[in-house]
Amino acid sequence: MDGFSELQDFVARRRRLFVLTGAGCSTGSGIPDYRDADGQWKRKPPVNFQAFMGEAATRQRYWARSLIGWRRMRDARPNGAHRALARLEERDKCEMLLTQNVDRLHQAAGSRNVVDLHGRIDRLRCMGCGRYSPRDAFQRELGRLNPDWLDKDAPEAPDGDADLEGADFSAFVVPSCAICGGVLKPDVVFFGESVPRERVEAAAQSLARADAMLVVGSSLMVYSGLRFVEWAARDGKPVAVVNRGRTRADDLLTLKVEANCEDALAFLL
Ligand SMILES: [Zn+2]
Repeated sequence: MDGFSELQDFVARRRRLFVLTGAGCSTGSGIPDYRDADGQWKRKPPVNFQAFMGEAATRQRYWARSLIGWRRMRDARPNGAHRALARLEERDKCEMLLTQNVDRLHQAAGSRNVVDLHGRIDRLRCMGCGRYSPRDAFQRELGRLNPDWLDKDAPEAPDGDADLEGADFSAFVVPSCAICGGVLKPDVVFFGESVPRERVEAAAQSLARADAMLVVGSSLMVYSGLRFVEWAARDGKPVAVVNRGRTRADDLLTLKVEANCEDALAFLL
């Protein structure tokens, strides 16, 4: 039994779903994820906030890899899982779509009521003056300042990163904010950084209005996502999960579908 008809039934019986999505939703668009089916790291953990802010060398390494990895990230397109969830919203059955992904593919697929829990990779924020700027313009600037790096290639890694190892990053030029000279950082929540409180509160209020929760493509290993399942369970709301492999909330679930996200949600299309 694959659980697909149970999932269809789960969705049909609810009026307003609070949806949480993770990396498994975007792997079908060619964006790799961090964890294996057991919820363990497949690769080195991503960059840490304190290291990024505190060390120029960490920023050089981050942006050199990102110069290469961003190209594939920018060109990624939504897959059937994103389209299925946009359809759920069209049918007025989606209270909120909360995503742990920073790729903006839900918005590209037409979903409007989306909260980017961990931010968005398509823009930068100056840590000095708070100004936002587009990642594409920064990409051109990185290329202009580091022309020797433009023809390098490396296997893609999650979040617009590339597995470029063994290079000497010390000559890589990283521009600062043109207004205040501050450190420019992708507008995403790094490891070691917390999600802005107002973002969590808005999502919690949405969850309170929903009559059930649906998790798509997340192993819930990160507490920033797991807590929503804990709150739903505490309030007696049923929770269904579509994910390959185990999740950190397996004992709280009403329904677990171990499958590819696109396949499991195909009934919505
Ligand atoms: Zn600034």
